[in-house]
Amino acid sequence: MAGAADASPRHVRGAEPPVRTSTASEERAARRLEALRAGGDPRRLRDFFHRLPKGADLHNHLSGAVTTEYLVELAARSGLCVDATMTAVDAPCGAGARPAADARTDRDFRAAIVRAWSMQDFPRGGNGHDHFFDTFQKFSRATWDHRGRMLAEVANGMAEQNQFYLETMVSPASEETNRLADEVGWHKDLARLHGKLTAGGKLDKVVAAARKEADGTDAQFRAANHCGTKKARPGCDLPVRWIAQVGRTGPSQRVFTQLALGMRLAERDGRFVAVNLVQPEDEKNALRNYSLHMRMIDYLRKVYPKAHVTLHAGELWPGLVKPEELKSHIGQAVNTARAERIGHGVDLVHEDHWQKTARTMAGREIAVEVPLTSNAQILGVRGPDHPFPTYRRFGVPVVLATDDPGVSRTDISREYQYAAQTYDLSYPELKDLARASLEYAFLPGKSLWRGNPTQEGYRLTGVCDTGRPGAAKPAARCEHLLNGSPKAAAQWRQEAAFRHFESRASTKA
Ligand SMILES: [Zn+2]
Repeated sequence: MAGAADASPRHVRGAEPPVRTSTASEERAARRLEALRAGGDPRRLRDFFHRLPKGADLHNHLSGAVTTEYLVELAARSGLCVDATMTAVDAPCGAGARPAADARTDRDFRAAIVRAWSMQDFPRGGNGHDHFFDTFQKFSRATWDHRGRMLAEVANGMAEQNQFYLETMVSPASEETNRLADEVGWHKDLARLHGKLTAGGKLDKVVAAARKEADGTDAQFRAANHCGTKKARPGCDLPVRWIAQVGRTGPSQRVFTQLALGMRLAERDGRFVAVNLVQPEDEKNALRNYSLHMRMIDYLRKVYPKAHVTLHAGELWPGLVKPEELKSHIGQAVNTARAERIGHGVDLVHEDHWQKTARTMAGREIAVEVPLTSNAQILGVRGPDHPFPTYRRFGVPVVLATDDPGVSRTDISREYQYAAQTYDLSYPELKDLARASLEYAFLPGKSLWRGNPTQEGYRLTGVCDTGRPGAAKPAARCEHLLNGSPKAAAQWRQEAAFRHFESRASTKA
């Protein structure tokens, strides 16, 4: 994609990244990073990225985020079978199927399931796209009834890797939602369709079912993590919010009903913050109905103005779809659906008017959620082909994310390390990526930072501007902000973690 990648954004106002001055402790951490890079000890380098504060993971799917070994264990606990296609199915085990519990003792069987349910040992050059998406159907049955346990596993892993907040995607009350959609049917007048869904409290009954389901998940999470006891696991203290997934390959009435449910939930229950369209963007229904889905979101944003929207858009590449399908997905998500964040955004430079789209994203601070490993595995896009540097040159906020770390066999620490290595990122740049992931989170409340930090740099907001972010005893007015803003509180915790991290880096340098 030479040419496209070289297109200069220098004429763009405000596109140049801010000049970043480092503090003395940041310089020490930067020297430590350089020494580790030169030293060639992969374990110590890995440890640096493990301990590095890494903000939030804003783009991950809960069932794809848990480790495959844990999914196998859940399948065994549920008494499931694994059939000849390596799909988890209900007992009794028919011909060619084996109890999942056999995987506890039969190592070869366990390894075979892990390969089928993840990218483990997947050959480079194979069809990663299909294998990746197929894993979800294979392990889906194993995830039933275990949402709280899966969240516990994921939250613990993130807290242990110095993350301070999690947004994770699930499909709330999916059976009830689809039943309502099929009962009401489709109508191309979206206001009428929405009226039919809400008539007689029908949609509210599904909202109630989703909230009850979330109560059950909370209870299971707290029990699995021993929250509130002496054995409490680290995930207990991690703030978590849900993003409601909407399956984009389904019939239109289901897409619309799932969107309406997710947005109504986000307005009525603080545990839910947003909606997102999921499933392969290149699937035939997803492609055919893409513009319709954008119009649905445009309509529903007026009905539910407080619900947030982030969209998988541009998870495409030449060869995966026809050239005309590459022209406008990010543009439509930004301009029609008015998404506040974009997931993947990989095909950016192949879209019509892409510089205009990038400028709009920079101006409106629409962050792009970048899962580098997932993009390499599904699309085969990596290194200089990936638009990561292009977004940054245009001043678009960029946040690193994992997408499906269980399927990908990665974690957020590896994603930071991979980004640092591939794009030669300095320590202050890594620190600002971590800050961006909290800044552009849908966690409510005022930010700790003023203005547009992606373009102006991270400067403390007035009441907290004492030059000591993360201090144990903030000034009274700053403390007032932190008490009233979950977002600023998470940001402050991360700044405290940076102080600790940088002081440790200096003693080891
Ligand atoms: Zn995703």
